Amino acid sequence: MEQSDLMVRRIKEGTVIDHIDEGKGLQVLNALRIDGKDGSLITIALNVPSGKFKKKDIIKVENKFLKDDDTNKIAVIAPTATINMIKGYKLVEKRRVSLPNEIDRIFRCSNPDCITNSTEHIESVMDVIDKQGRVLKCRYCARVLDVNKLKYN
Ligand SMILES: [Zn+2]
Repeated sequence: MEQSDLMVRRIKEGTVIDHIDEGKGLQVLNALRIDGKDGSLITIALNVPSGKFKKKDIIKVENKFLKDDDTNKIAVIAPTATINMIKGYKLVEKRRVSLPNEIDRIFRCSNPDCITNSTEHIESVMDVIDKQGRVLKCRYCARVLDVNKLKYN
């Protein structure tokens, strides 16, 4: 067992999002709209040692099983993340995230004149036009967007 596994308490039922790039854990929570307001127990570990020179973030959400649609949204933020489903303290399913063809809601378009930035309350929709380079394109104003410079909704 890795040392890092021991630092975060084991959960009985729920989802563990592991191998999130260092420093991206809070963005992942935000993208998944996990805020604990429903009373579920959430454990967040930032900067957990992973291997010799690396660190990672880990999120554990108890009593909640995240769907593929949800977890794939985090592929733009944390492409190396793994999703682990735990039942009865046992790992029952492990999957990697894969970038979907479109990403809604998570990011704000960088074009101030875009309709999604107006007072109309239109949710952003972005097409993934380059999965390797993680390049998005706003479906409303067609602006090509750099994931690393986008603001979150
Ligand atoms: Zn736009």
